[in-house]
Amino acid sequence: MTDDQPSRPAHVPLAGVIGMPIAHSRSPRLHGHWLRRYGIAGHYIPMPVMPEHLAEVLRALPRLGFVGINVTIPHKEAVLTLADAVTDRAALIGAANTLIFRPDGKIHADNTDGYGFIANLRQNAPDWQPDAGPAAVIGAGGAARAVVASLLDSGVRELRITNRTRIRSEQIKAEFGARLVVYDWAQAGNMLEGAATVVNATSLGMEGKQPLRVPLDALSPDALVTDLVYTPLMTPFLLDAQARGCRVVDGLGMLLHQAAPGFERWFGRRPEVDEETRRIVLE
Ligand code: NAP
Repeated sequence: MTDDQPSRPAHVPLAGVIGMPIAHSRSPRLHGHWLRRYGIAGHYIPMPVMPEHLAEVLRALPRLGFVGINVTIPHKEAVLTLADAVTDRAALIGAANTLIFRPDGKIHADNTDGYGFIANLRQNAPDWQPDAGPAAVIGAGGAARAVVASLLDSGVRELRITNRTRIRSEQIKAEFGARLVVYDWAQAGNMLEGAATVVNATSLGMEGKQPLRVPLDALSPDALVTDLVYTPLMTPFLLDAQARGCRVVDGLGMLLHQAAPGFERWFGRRPEVDEETRRIVLE
């Protein structure tokens, strides 16, 4: 090892989450719970980081004993340019949420949001079939890109997408290909006709924000409807879909499942996502 490679002190491994703001993050509670549950000596720390300090912080953390971190707004895109290795899925999505600091000092960037999205559906709607019919994704931000990638990977044959700013959904179609069909925001209700899987990937419906207002007349009661927003757990959109007889899956499970691969890489144990995990994170 040369002098400019970070040393890996043989002490308690550290992980954490960087973002700005970060106080609202539930990740420290989640990882802290898993560390206690599995009796692992480690710590998970929330760290407010300004964009102008990002590169410096990423250089410093491995030297302080960090084995990796989660990354949230506003750093998810910028970390890709600072990482030494980027997984194909993070590159395709254009953002990373999980960094691994390797013993050789290299930073490895991954995106586990899509994995978390699918794992949540598989756990809470075990008979969900990705190829049962078209999927409809509302929103075209960073989280929507992860959802689109994971739905296509799972075997969805037609993926409809709409976004207030249409150019962003067209950009996603240009990158993700022929299975995508772009709908105008004003036509979002029509997009639901015949859809087997419907996803709100906008931030609408979050506490303090307006609800997502998409006419649900065309929504089939056979559709599975899910929302990435998890504060509140049951968003107005999910409540409306449930009232129409649809199965609904809230967004908390995605948050829990996307965290599991990072925890495993950093602390050496695959954590279980179960009712107790949900309860602790909600407390
Ligand atoms: P983002 O990149 O900022 O995208 C925000 C999306 O919401 C865009 O599609 C945006 O449309 C839309 N939007 C915002 N305000 C709107 C309004 N007034 N009317 C219509 N559309 C509006 O955010 P993101 O990272 O994709 O996150 C989206 C949501 O998913 C957030 O609530 C986030 O907390 C949640 N999320 C949850 C998980 C989980 O684990 N459950 C993981 C990641 C994200 P425009 O393009 O037109 O602005």
